[in-house]
Amino acid sequence: MAVPDVPALAEGVLAGERRAVARAITLVESRRADHRQAAQELLVQLLPHAGAARRVGISGVPGVGKSTFIDSLGVDLTAAGSKVAVLAVDPSSARSGGSILGDKTRMARLAVDPAAFIRPAPTAGTLGGVAQATRESMVVVEAAGYDVVLVETVGVGQSEVAVAEMVDTFLFLTLARTGDQLQGIKRGILEIADVIAVNKADGPGEVDARRAARELAGALRMLRGEPVPVLTCAGLSGAGLAEVWAQVVAHQDRLRASGQLAERRRAQQVRWTWQLVRDGLEHQLREHPAVRSAAPELEAAVLAGELTPALAARQLLDAFGTAPA
Ligand code: GDP
Repeated sequence: MAVPDVPALAEGVLAGERRAVARAITLVESRRADHRQAAQELLVQLLPHAGAARRVGISGVPGVGKSTFIDSLGVDLTAAGSKVAVLAVDPSSARSGGSILGDKTRMARLAVDPAAFIRPAPTAGTLGGVAQATRESMVVVEAAGYDVVLVETVGVGQSEVAVAEMVDTFLFLTLARTGDQLQGIKRGILEIADVIAVNKADGPGEVDARRAARELAGALRMLRGEPVPVLTCAGLSGAGLAEVWAQVVAHQDRLRASGQLAERRRAQQVRWTWQLVRDGLEHQLREHPAVRSAAPELEAAVLAGELTPALAARQLLDAFGTAPA
């Protein structure tokens, strides 16, 4: 991809042109140095126009019904006059070479909705790289006038924490199946979820779903010492989606009314800045010639038990401190 004309691209994004939005996201996803430079220039122009959207993270294990839920919720929201962007964070997409999250074929109605914009997870490698691309994509879609940004992620590992760090409200989808709730507690997701919905509460599963929701609400009161809304819904039929969304909106309205929304976003920006510093430092460290030449031997010595990790780390840091030849 050639380096684009940044002012023209910014103009297209601000006018809400889909092609410009797509190109801008491709630019912020790129790791090429000249693209990074152009992307930062673009973001500086877009930033004053971003920030007005509701930013919502949506997570749950594969099969919980995320894409079906987002498809139904998304078309309800656009029918009510919103412009909806769906982004996705999936660090495994780099390894598998493709992403199932944010896959347009899994959101058939939303994918053809002119008021919606769906972007699959970037394949930028590390979670840090993916999270950065998604944060920057969020600026792009907000500047383009999307007033709801849904960030989809899988219910595994660190990606939920990364998403919680970029949204206002975190919605966790779960199932009534025994064990799922406890698994959630183990992973710590229930500590960061702002709204929880037991999905597939339809047909014979409805009774189980309601019971699971009650139990979960009780467990959360103990765990968090505050009530967390736990609802039931069915993404497939759309039942309960309005109530789930109402709780998401209520959570954000509470944050806004108490001044915490702006504070939370500012704190996220500052933490993110330091995360980028850490990522940058680690990159410089790994690329440093003296570190690169010393590392294999030191690693081998640690593996062989001839050197303690602390002494090896000291030597690597010392090597980093030497000026490159
Ligand atoms: P994801 O992997 O979390 O995105 O889940 P999908 O949205 O792809 O759904 C996984 C499976 O569950 C599909 O076969 C869906 O048809 C089914 N499913 C999704 N939502 C519901 C629901 O509300 N009720 C029922 N009974 N099945 C659902």
